[in-house]
This record gives sequence, structure tokens and C-alpha cells, in this order.
Amino acid sequence: MRLSKFHLATTREAPADAEIVSHQLMLRAGMIRKLASGIYTWSPLGLRVLRKVETVVREEMDRAGAIELSMPTIQPRELWDETGRWQKFGPQLLKIRDRKEAEYCYAPTAEEVVTDFARNELRSYKQLPVNFYQVQTKFRDEIRPRFGVMRAREFIMKDAYSFDLTAEGMAESYRIMHAAYTRIFTRLGLKFRAVQADTGAIGGSASQEFHVLADSGEDALAFSDTSDYAANVERAEALAPATLRPAPAQDLKRVATPTQKTIEDVCAFLKISPAQCIKTLIVRGNEGLVALCLRGDHELNEIKAAKLPELPGESLLADEADIVKRIGCVPGFLGPVGLPVDIPVIVDRSAAVLADFVCGGNAEGSHYTGANWERDARITRIADLRKVVAGDPSPDGKGTLGIARGIEVGHVFQLGTKYSEALHATVLDDAGQNRVLQMGCYGIGITRIVAAAIEQNHDEAGIVWPEPMAPWQAVICLINPKNNPAVNEAAEALYSELNARGIETCLDDRGLRPGAMFADLELIGIPHRIVVSERGIAAGTFEYRGRRDSESRNLDQASLLAIFTRGD
Ligand code: ATP
Ligand code: MG
Repeated sequence: MRLSKFHLATTREAPADAEIVSHQLMLRAGMIRKLASGIYTWSPLGLRVLRKVETVVREEMDRAGAIELSMPTIQPRELWDETGRWQKFGPQLLKIRDRKEAEYCYAPTAEEVVTDFARNELRSYKQLPVNFYQVQTKFRDEIRPRFGVMRAREFIMKDAYSFDLTAEGMAESYRIMHAAYTRIFTRLGLKFRAVQADTGAIGGSASQEFHVLADSGEDALAFSDTSDYAANVERAEALAPATLRPAPAQDLKRVATPTQKTIEDVCAFLKISPAQCIKTLIVRGNEGLVALCLRGDHELNEIKAAKLPELPGESLLADEADIVKRIGCVPGFLGPVGLPVDIPVIVDRSAAVLADFVCGGNAEGSHYTGANWERDARITRIADLRKVVAGDPSPDGKGTLGIARGIEVGHVFQLGTKYSEALHATVLDDAGQNRVLQMGCYGIGITRIVAAAIEQNHDEAGIVWPEPMAPWQAVICLINPKNNPAVNEAAEALYSELNARGIETCLDDRGLRPGAMFADLELIGIPHRIVVSERGIAAGTFEYRGRRDSESRNLDQASLLAIFTRGD
């Protein structure tokens, strides 16, 4: 590719609303352009990178025995009604009507359509196992699209779906996909980890997420320092403390805290640590309000709370008006002592072993000190409610947890029969009996990977692509070609030579001055830069610089070519 014939559109400044580095750099490099909230055009440069990711993903899916197909992005409501997800998927599902008033959605994922395909196509166990995949545009009406293509509304996902006769077969298909994902992210040159995950709206039993490790990641991940335990914090269990609750030593006492509403303020005022406080959250239960109690220094894990049988599958704070009506006190002074008896009090495992704690007094401007469970406050149930923190014991009993941040780029699930049962997708087994298919599903965020790779690989000058994702492997820069035909000739010869050797090379013949040209090429992150100049030709050398190098080197052609054969 000659860059004079390509469309490069770099800028020095990033728009002010681009919060994270990858978003800024993708805009500055001219890889993406925003059309509407969460909806982007991929420029020719961006598309080259996207294609690299897609190619690696396709190669590894094919190698793992998955078969590519292509399913519609517009899907009929009836199918989504069969699984109940027309309602359950919630506002993320973009619903559309056609001219006959028939209802459709834009696919956020494709379990319904692939299971419909399977129930029509698969008749016998002899056709199993089978794994169908596609690389396809998805739409999710995200509540807060942000960070460019990282959390977009329209994005490209590779989605795969396995079908097996038995649960053991499904587990094997899952294992194969897990291995394929490991190969994909390794080949792409990313630092990543697979972690145990919550199954969310997709459902099913076992599931793991693949995360690219980056400080800007939206997800917190918990790792053991001793074992290979790794889990999304959403999912990580907080073990019950090994210690028992001490016996009460203090009397219950009401103290005035006229303006102290937060744990921080209360602790500063009473000169105690947050670990000696109970914070009480009042949420909407299935029948009326529910109190959730945690230690003051711990945070509620909303995913765990949503699974409590007392809650309707989500954890939503109650309206202040309801709280005032039922408890007679505003948030900020709530506590478990003296709550109305019909409000269940669910206490986190760590909070349940506290004695002589401080908590809200259920009256504006007051707290209790010296409060104790059972003696002063009811416990309806003890549950694991909190997010794990660094220093917690690992749930597998081995070592201590540390917390790192990650970007979810892939997710694998064992679904079992959740969709196949709802859609009556069955095959005949070897005894001629109808059996419901066992499914797995496996997603990779193709567009998100591009942004995640940049989060992990950049410097002050711009993007530093892992080689397999770079738009080109090498660029040849011409210095002052107009005045010197020999520069042109030497560059053209090297350009042909490198491309003939399968090294994707572009020629920067835009006629820019060296400073501006180099800045552009560093911004777009091309791994190898070769400068052809009059001086170099006279010396029989090229000036070479790797994108991660701090200085350039003068190399003769043989040494230059050796860099590519060695692959460094
Ligand atoms: P998240 O928790 O980030 O919202 P998810 O768990 O809802 O993602 P999945 O249903 O597991 O996503 O989808 C498979 C993959 O698709 C994810 O691992 C992620 O890489 C990608 N993906 C999901 N939502 C988006 C989005 N809004 N923008 C870009 N990529 C996305
Ligand atoms: Mg997910």
C-alpha cells in the first residue's frame, strides 16, 4: 500500500470527551469515527486492524472444528417469546417494527436463532457434536455507551454455539473452546487471564470470562497469590471469617450524630474504624422492603444480592419515600436495631461476627454504639453479600486474594438445556429416543479487542501494536524523494522485496517532512520503520527503528531482512 493512495487522517488533539487512552488514540489515529452515540464507522485504517483480529479468530475457530455460518441481525419477536427473553432481556434489546407492524429485535446475541436452526437441521446424534459460529454485528442499547468501541451499542462479536447429546459432551466442547480462546489471545500478543464468571442474562451453569489485563478495565478480578484461583469480583465468594462472634461487652447506647450521615463522617466523629460499623441498605424485596447489612468498610456485591431468594432477581435501593413511610427515618441513619419485624434482615458473613458495633439509630440525627446481634438486632439470615477485597482468603482455601483490573474480551458458557428445552431442540439418540440438545455458547468481542489491545500497548507517541494486530508490519519512509530518484528506486525495490517475502509493508510516499511523517507512523503504531535517504544509500544502509526501540540503527539489507526472519 502506498500511503499517498490510502486514507490516513491523523490528528494531534483528541476530542475532550474521549476519557481513556484507547479511545483517544483510536480517534487521533483516525481508526474510528462516531456516527451516533455508541455507533462508529471503522475507517480503512481501523478496518485493517479489525480484519487481523477476525482472521486470527476465524483460523482458531476453524482449527478447533467449529463451522462458520451467518445468521440474521434482525430477528422475529416470536422466537424471542419462546424463550421469554423478549421481556427478560430488558431495555438493552432494540425492538423494531416493520410496515406490517410485525415486531423484530436487532440481535444482541443469537442463542434463539441458532437453536431454531439446530432444531430444524439436526435430527440424529450422529450429527453431533457440532459447533456453529459467526462473526456478526450485534446491537445492545447500552445504558451508558462509552470509551468508544470498548462499550459501544453496535459492535462486532464472534459468537459460537455448540450442540452435544450429553452433558459430558458439552463439557468437552467447552474445554475445546476454552483452549481455542487461549490460543487466540496468545496469538494476538495480549496479556490475558481466564476467570470464573457470573452467567448474567445469558444463563447456564459454568462460565468463564477472558480478560485483557489493564488498569483502565471496567471489571475487578480476584486472583489467589498461591493457587490458580481467578474469578471476576462479581462472582468471587467471600468466605465466612474463621473467628466466632465475641460476646457483647458494651451496653447499647444512642448517641447524637446530628449531621453525620456517611460511614466516613460517623467514624471520624466517633473516632472508630469503619470495620467496627454496620451499614444498612434498604432494598426492594419480593414482598416489601429488605435490609442488607454489611461491615462499614465493605461494599455490596449487587450480583450476589440479586440472587437472594428475598429479592426479585435484581437489587434496587428502595425509594426514600417508602423507607421514611415504613421505618420513619431517612437513609444515613438506618440500622438493624429496632427495624419493623416484617423487614427481613440479611447480614453479610463478615458483618455477622461483629460485636459492640456502631449502626444507624433509625431516627434522624442518631446512631447506636455498643450494638450486638441477637441481643439488640435480629438476624433473619446470614449470607455472602459483599465484594471480596485484597487480602481476603482465597475461596479455594489456598492463599490470599489480590485484585487486578481487566477488560472482558471473551466469555464461554455451559448452557445445558436452557434454550434447547424452551425451543424443543432435540435429536434421536442411538436407542431412537428424543433427547434435548446440550448447548454451550462462546463470545468474543472483536471490536472491543482492538481497543483493549491499545489500552495494554501504547506510549506517549501513540499505539504500539502487538505485531499480529498491526495494520502493516513495516513502513518504508522516503526522505526527500523528489530531489533524488535513487531514494525512490531503492525504496521501491525494498518495498517489493518485503512484500514478496510476505511482510506486509506500506510505503510512506506522502511527501511529508520527516518529523510529521514519523509522528504519524508512531501514532498509528507500525512495528517496523525503515528510512530510505540519500545518505543511507551512499553508505549502503537503511535506517531501521522498531516501534519499541529508543534509537534507530543503520543496517545493510541482509541485516534488515534478518530482523523479519527472526521475528523481533
Ligand atoms: P459486559 O459485561 O462487558 O457488558 P457481557 O457480559 O454483557 O459484556 P457477553 O454477552 O458475554 O457480554 O458478550 C460476549 C462478548 O462481547 C463480551 O465478552 C465482550 O467482549 C463483547 N461485548 C459485549 N458487550 C459489548 C459492548 N457493548 N461493546 C463492545 N463489545 C461488547
Ligand atoms: Mg460476559
